[in-house]
Amino acid sequence: MKIAFFGGTFDPVHRGHIQIARSAVKRFQLGQVLFVPAYIQPLKQGDQIAAYHHRLAMLALATQSQREFVVSDLEAPNDIEVPNYSINSIREIKRRLRKADKLYFLMGIDAFLGISKWHKPSELLRECEFIIASRPGFSMGEVAAVLPEDLRPRKDVLNIARKQKLDFSRDPVQTIALPGITLHLMGDISEKVSATQIRAAAKSAGKARLRSLVGEAVAEYIRKTGIYRRATQNALAVKPERAKAEVIELSKHSRRMRASKANR
Ligand code: ATP
Repeated sequence: MKIAFFGGTFDPVHRGHIQIARSAVKRFQLGQVLFVPAYIQPLKQGDQIAAYHHRLAMLALATQSQREFVVSDLEAPNDIEVPNYSINSIREIKRRLRKADKLYFLMGIDAFLGISKWHKPSELLRECEFIIASRPGFSMGEVAAVLPEDLRPRKDVLNIARKQKLDFSRDPVQTIALPGITLHLMGDISEKVSATQIRAAAKSAGKARLRSLVGEAVAEYIRKTGIYRRATQNALAVKPERAKAEVIELSKHSRRMRASKANR
């Protein structure tokens, strides 16, 4: 069976994720897309992220009607609290595969453009073939140029490739095969949606708008749990308290100063 690993923060899962997974199933005859939410996304450490169980629950809701979509807790919280490096997950999945299985790594071009900053990027790129989906605002033309240095084609080759330009109008999937690595580019995906935009929208947008971005079930989950409202509520609740504490501290300080001046 052909299987795609699809990792991410999924905070929350949205129309863009579902669309690229659906296209990959169709184009590559995938039997399974493994949606793997990261407990600790190495490049998003320190960001405020919804609890792992909420992200997992939303994924379960969003993927329930598509037979090929499977949610995996491979990157669930663990005792050692180390970030979830994709290379470890990919190797773990490969250990569990049968001989006839083939693994792909599915991701969006925005994520691929930062691949050199990932943990052991060259090793990761050699582990399996990659399926990279286009995303509004990010150029597919730079795919070869952003590879880690040891895999990157020479400058003159890159320049020739740039001039040739990728043409997705004839075939929406273009494959770049370089020594040891294969990158399949799905160039006709144009989903103008991001989780960042949804977290913001969840605070103010109407029901219909949220539903159009994440689907009915996830929109209802977000509404019921209030996961993206809480951050603002907390922030509002915390700020006046902190401000009050600072005022009290300041007035204590000025009283002490006045008292010490009077005693001199
Ligand atoms: P955020 O806005 O919080 O950074 P995101 O919308 O980019 O989140 P992630 O969970 O970080 O979502 O993304 C998981 C994977 O899905 C990444 O490989 C990313 O490139 C891809 N992806 C997310 N949204 C889209 C989209 N609209 N089009 C194509 N790929 C996407």
